[in-house]
Amino acid sequence: MKAVRFHEHGGPEVLQYEDVPDPTPKATQVKLRVKGVALNHLDIWLRKGLPGVKVPLPKIGGCDIAGEVAAVGESCTRVQVGERIMVSPGWTCGQCAACLRGEDNLCRAYQIIGGYGMDGGCAEFVCVPEVNCIPIPERMDYPSAAAVPLTFLTAWNMLVRQAQLKAGEDVLIMGAGSGVGTAAIQIAKLLGARVIAVASTDDKLSKASALGADTGINYATQDLGQEVRRVTGKRGVDVVFEHVGAATWERSINALGKNGRLVTCGAHTGSSARLEIWRLFTRQISLIGSYLGTKGELFEVLRLIGHGRLRPVIHAVLPLAEARAAHTILEERRHFGKLLLEP
Ligand SMILES: [Zn+2]
Repeated sequence: MKAVRFHEHGGPEVLQYEDVPDPTPKATQVKLRVKGVALNHLDIWLRKGLPGVKVPLPKIGGCDIAGEVAAVGESCTRVQVGERIMVSPGWTCGQCAACLRGEDNLCRAYQIIGGYGMDGGCAEFVCVPEVNCIPIPERMDYPSAAAVPLTFLTAWNMLVRQAQLKAGEDVLIMGAGSGVGTAAIQIAKLLGARVIAVASTDDKLSKASALGADTGINYATQDLGQEVRRVTGKRGVDVVFEHVGAATWERSINALGKNGRLVTCGAHTGSSARLEIWRLFTRQISLIGSYLGTKGELFEVLRLIGHGRLRPVIHAVLPLAEARAAHTILEERRHFGKLLLEP
């Protein structure tokens, strides 16, 4: 089969579109003919390499997968050949205390399919555990199905479970044009919050407004702190939705009002930042880390997508062979919504 692999860490040029052996499903696995795979910043981290994290090479990335079942392992009981499947990205042991109380993203064995361990969907075929296979709702096409899992699960977990955003609160959504940003805008509106979208261009802000954002701040041309004070009547926001990292960290903290919560799931502009401890306790601020979400939450998201209350935003679908170009667009932040590859 054709796949996009990298044999060493580096820039987009290390991605090779090449022939690799077809994978064979283990007894509890399903073999999917990949119809769409969405890219995430995780794909860029994996390709570049992270200090202290060992990725088995060569590696096939791609954590957001939708496809048609081509074969099933001998112990599979539920999934049928020909079925349309989206893949729940988190693999967990299914038998520890965290898994059994429904907090499976706290499982010590937690792995993301296409992440540091298992190969992902940037290929014509991929084998995934049957327990991770979710039937695609009838009216949803493959690209939409691939665009949902990581971004919506992450944004849902951050705003609903972690930050506990409430109706009437103000939420500042950093990187509003990213996949998680576009999901967060919609989820925050659904919860009844007032959304202040932050992006680098006016074009992204007008698209964010079409998605439901109440107001926008262009961080390239406007003073973020000043604008937040103006919009909130000097109060500051209740919640900051952060995933940008070092480049925006201090401004994000400073945007919080008293008792504000900052929730973050990423740091693609750098992982080290300064924290004014005095500000943290006098303003009674909470800092919350979030990593994907539980399998159960993905079903909550899917129900809302089925009801038309949430929808994945797709920037473009490129052929799998153009993975380098897709990585470049993502790294240069030229997208609004999800970037997908199609084998
Ligand atoms: Zn477990």
